[in-house]
Amino acid sequence: MIKSYVLGFPRIGEKRELKRALEGFWAGKEGFSEENLQETAKTLRQRHWKYQQDAGISAISVNDFSFYDLMLDNIIAFGATPPRFANLSGLEQYFACSRGNKNGVAMEMTKWFNTNYHYIVPELSSESKFSLKADKILNEYKEAKTNGVKGKVNLIGPITFLALSKTTDGSCPFKHLDALVGEYKKLLEQISKLDDEILVQFDEPIFVTDKNESDLLPLITKVYNELTGVASNIKIVFATYFEHAIKAVSEVAKTKIYGIALDFIHGKRNFEALETIKNSHLTLFAGVIDGRNIWKSNIDEKVKLVREISEKIGGKDFYIGTSCSLLHVPYTLKYEENLNPEIKSWLSFAVEKLDEIKIITKLANGEKLDETEAKIYEENKNAVKTRATSKLIHSESVQNRIKNLSKFERDEKFEDRIKIQRETLKYGILPTTTIGSFPQTVDLRVLRQNFKKGEIDAAAYEAGIKKYIDHCVKFQEDIGLDVLVHGEPERNDMVEYFGEQISGYAFSQNGWVQSYGSRCVKPPLLFGDVSRPEPMTVKWMKYAQSITKHVMKGMLTGPVTMLNWSFVRDDLSRSEVAKQLALCIYDEIADLQAAGIRVIQVDEAAFKEGYPLRAENIPAYEKFAVDCFKLSVSSAEAKTQIHTHMCYSEFNDIIKTIEAMDADVISIETARSGNELLKIFKAVGYKQEVGPGVYDIHSPRVPSVEEIVAQIKALLEVLPKEQLWINPDCGLKTRKWEEVEPSLKNMVEAVKIVRGL
Ligand code: GLN
Ligand code: ZN
Repeated sequence: MIKSYVLGFPRIGEKRELKRALEGFWAGKEGFSEENLQETAKTLRQRHWKYQQDAGISAISVNDFSFYDLMLDNIIAFGATPPRFANLSGLEQYFACSRGNKNGVAMEMTKWFNTNYHYIVPELSSESKFSLKADKILNEYKEAKTNGVKGKVNLIGPITFLALSKTTDGSCPFKHLDALVGEYKKLLEQISKLDDEILVQFDEPIFVTDKNESDLLPLITKVYNELTGVASNIKIVFATYFEHAIKAVSEVAKTKIYGIALDFIHGKRNFEALETIKNSHLTLFAGVIDGRNIWKSNIDEKVKLVREISEKIGGKDFYIGTSCSLLHVPYTLKYEENLNPEIKSWLSFAVEKLDEIKIITKLANGEKLDETEAKIYEENKNAVKTRATSKLIHSESVQNRIKNLSKFERDEKFEDRIKIQRETLKYGILPTTTIGSFPQTVDLRVLRQNFKKGEIDAAAYEAGIKKYIDHCVKFQEDIGLDVLVHGEPERNDMVEYFGEQISGYAFSQNGWVQSYGSRCVKPPLLFGDVSRPEPMTVKWMKYAQSITKHVMKGMLTGPVTMLNWSFVRDDLSRSEVAKQLALCIYDEIADLQAAGIRVIQVDEAAFKEGYPLRAENIPAYEKFAVDCFKLSVSSAEAKTQIHTHMCYSEFNDIIKTIEAMDADVISIETARSGNELLKIFKAVGYKQEVGPGVYDIHSPRVPSVEEIVAQIKALLEVLPKEQLWINPDCGLKTRKWEEVEPSLKNMVEAVKIVRGL
């Protein structure tokens, strides 16, 4: 007998109800009291349970709801709030932790494994004490029960919790393991009183990474022998996702843990663990539905997969469900009215995935489908068929172009290119520039929206954009920057802007996915072979160059970032898709160059976040990412200078890969780390030019001239002046003009001082 489960459900609301309620509450708007917020939360939870009930899901999560983030909920549940917020309570404390208040800055946030979701990083010290506050967890269970749902309680496991914690005093978070496990035991005791038998899911995704794996593995028996001993009516499920966890399976099998959840989509090596599961008491929770992507599952294939798994575990009963929480996909196709119907027929968001789980479970159990299910099954078979051959997806010309590729990188070596560039671009020591965007003002947003809605015509729109560019250029000339930018006024988002002009991309209206707190993103859907029918940026760049004698830097988004920030087709390898994207950029660079643009920046903001979780897969990723970046800029002649920009500062592990990308100049985000993290560039003898951000654009603060002088001097201690560019540490789109103007003035002033020394 096969049952079904869902590891977690999104909570922002299919119409982003929670976002609205939160933002209204934070702004203190009328009608947005705490009660209203709680009411919205309740409505959402109940709606989400109902969806899962309707799909006959056997193990439905409770405590997967959160006002901001589940790691933060766990911090609060165990009383591990940082001292600066310890005197607060309730929602005031909760939102102070996540968003900061007058007396303290917000807790740090960082990406959850290899997703675009951000969690709040627990902040511990050797002084940290833990004390259980279980009400949120217990209440959600009771609430579900009143609604006819016998929930599976979701918790972040203690090992993952501590492994993802940071400490303010350099102590080891695991020093607190016993104390924390003590509190988890109390929690389990309370949970055990709620019902006769309860599933409790402990998320332990840390076991899909290699980081400290050998130190962490022995903790599984230590911790879970304690936790499984608390109450006989609690069945613990040890949940892993995003990669394989084969070593953890052997450890889990030594304990009295009831079940283990494994990801069979993104962790194919989990098949190797099935023998262990067969020979143990463990119940398998097999993640066979992709929780990270938006394509319909091929139901027939999935049923085969389920049968194969069943065979490999010796026909034992097991569960099938989502590879990870559905948090990482949009809610439902229900509100998509503008998508091409054929493309829409290939998609499956969270709610639609529930139906897939139901149907696969029934078919695998040999049960009969009812009429609605049979219809969905039929549609599924059709979608699989049309997707395999659709003209929308498969472009012969794109495929032929890839097949016949003969040029993969630029013709000249960096040393030769840079000589030519220095001569023709005529820049001296410590050239100054910015990262691309200037403040995105309300006027600008309104202008773009009005144009999109057809409320203004193209001429009025263009006049508005040109006015912004004029202003930007004039300002940069006035303060004396060397390499100028046009400010990116025509772009809403660095991926969407290009995706909209590349064929093979589609856009949902409502495909929102939570990024952090109330913030959501709507990743574009890369559904087919991609190509660039028309130039995407040439008109604006040409205009911007025409109004200045300075060098104007063209601005593009790189292929790896396009890939990592989109929902990508799963019928072609990512490396092949990346190659196609690279050719779109290749064409654009050729056209920009022909139009007289001499410096072009290809942003790879998401290069690092595409890194695989397992070291065994890193060489393959690095190879395709580097190859496709190089391919994308290989249309640049020696005299055209290629810049790239990356939004991070830690390059220690990847410096050789960055060097291999062979950009002439890279700008990076070192401002907050002084010159410490730059040292790796020197250590490996990095050749190309580097623009380490000299001030932090993530804060509204205006840096003083002296500060920037000091920062530049610190950089000069590490790298020679001939190798350094001076720029802010990221784009300025989130800042206000009042902040940008004095900051950049001070930056240029500081460079003048240093040049004169
Ligand atoms: N050119 C982009 C900008 O300035 C780069 C943004 C980014 O790296 N995230 O906005
Ligand atoms: Zn950046």
